[in-house]
Amino acid sequence: MVDYDVIIVGGGPAGSTAARRTSQAGLSVVLFDKARFPRYKPCAGGIHSGVNRLLDFDIKSILQRKISGATMFAPSGFRVDCIPEDRSVPGSIISREDFDHLLLKKAAEVGVEIREDTLIAKVREEESHAVVTTKEGEEVTGMYLVGADGINSIVAKSLDFYDGWRNDSAMIAIEVEAEVGSSTVREICGEPSGYNADLLLLYYGGLSHGYVWCFPKQSVLSLGACSIQDKGGELRPAYEKWYAAFKNEHDIEPQILSDTAARFPVKRAKNIVKGRTILVGDAAGLVDSFTGEGIPEAIESGILAASALSKAVKEANPRSLREYEKDCKREIISELKAMDFMANTFYKSRKNMETMCRFFRDDSHANFLIAAGIGGIITKRELKRKMLLRMAKKRPREAISLLL
Ligand SMILES: Cc1cc2nc3c(=O)[nH]c(=O)nc-3n(C[C@H](O)[C@H](O)[C@H](O)COP(=O)(O)OP(=O)(O)OC[C@H]3O[C@@H](n4cnc5c(N)ncnc54)[C@H](O)[C@@H]3O)c2cc1C
Repeated sequence: MVDYDVIIVGGGPAGSTAARRTSQAGLSVVLFDKARFPRYKPCAGGIHSGVNRLLDFDIKSILQRKISGATMFAPSGFRVDCIPEDRSVPGSIISREDFDHLLLKKAAEVGVEIREDTLIAKVREEESHAVVTTKEGEEVTGMYLVGADGINSIVAKSLDFYDGWRNDSAMIAIEVEAEVGSSTVREICGEPSGYNADLLLLYYGGLSHGYVWCFPKQSVLSLGACSIQDKGGELRPAYEKWYAAFKNEHDIEPQILSDTAARFPVKRAKNIVKGRTILVGDAAGLVDSFTGEGIPEAIESGILAASALSKAVKEANPRSLREYEKDCKREIISELKAMDFMANTFYKSRKNMETMCRFFRDDSHANFLIAAGIGGIITKRELKRKMLLRMAKKRPREAISLLL
């Protein structure tokens, strides 16, 4: 006799979504998180319109700003505003304290037992069930286990899914929360047209594989930089150089509220299902390697995991978990692979970054495609296919030089 049908380790977007959906399907579920919510999570907080479609409840009350597009600054400094003409499906900015707390409360509301402040130190599988052990030594058993514990997943490591992320499979990031006041946020990030929405600012060229960002929160700017881990030494100097120029340009002296480092994976785990265990979200490596977006993927993987878990419990057959692998490949991994192509082409060299930014600036259809792709209005596969076709048609020589 086990304690629960499903044990979930981690209460970020992936874990709380998996928990809510499995509980809604009638399973008994416990979720452990080492933190007490609301908790800080280093994150720029950008979510595209697709997130609203994935969630089965309203998140309007916690949205901080409406986002109508992105502005890319090329290595040579010119600006490219990527704003879909149809602004009816905007993105948003959230704070992870509010967002993750709301998702966790929505899991509790449908009967999930939430155990905060409880670090899982070890996990193991027996023939007929899974066992997690808390730091205090308490053992809890479940028919199935979900590793939703982020990039440093103890679930993945304990069960030999992998033993860490190699230098070329993770990005390292700095995230700085800089208080400047709401009106200054609007002055810096607002649409130049005066339309009542803000833009995500992305700066390329300072890092050989990565970028600097400035995202608008309520009265705070999320400033940061990310770089592929094996070039992590570039990160702090590139950020500091950019920050000095940024303060100078906008004549501001922000109050720094936090300055933290964190990582996110940019390659998928080789296996995401093993025995009685499923990996979701960052633990499974489900992050867009071009943009660093991982919140929609975390939520979607939680939904797909819940469907396979419900089937496995109802049929008393762990092999049903394999459906998650298939669904994930079809719905999420194929999309992320399209963005791997974009990332590998774009970050290959500063010359490529410059060429692609120029193309996004000068070709209105390419500009629409990149805005719609980042905004979740078209799929990532569509973005890749249509962008390639467009470039081959309009700039065939440059298209070839990008790939060589
Ligand atoms: C600096 C930065 C900026 C980012 N900006 C964006 C952005 O703007 N938009 C976007 O879409 N994505 C962004 N991402 C990516 C996004 O944050 C992740 O993809 C997303 O958080 C993944 O969700 P998750 O639920 O898988 O994991 P997480 O959100 O990492 O949640 C994991 C949870 O597991 C808990 N946990 C870990 N270990 C244990 C343990 N042993 N026992 C119990 N609990 C445990 C943690 O406390 C945590 O609550 C950013 C990432 C970084 C690092």
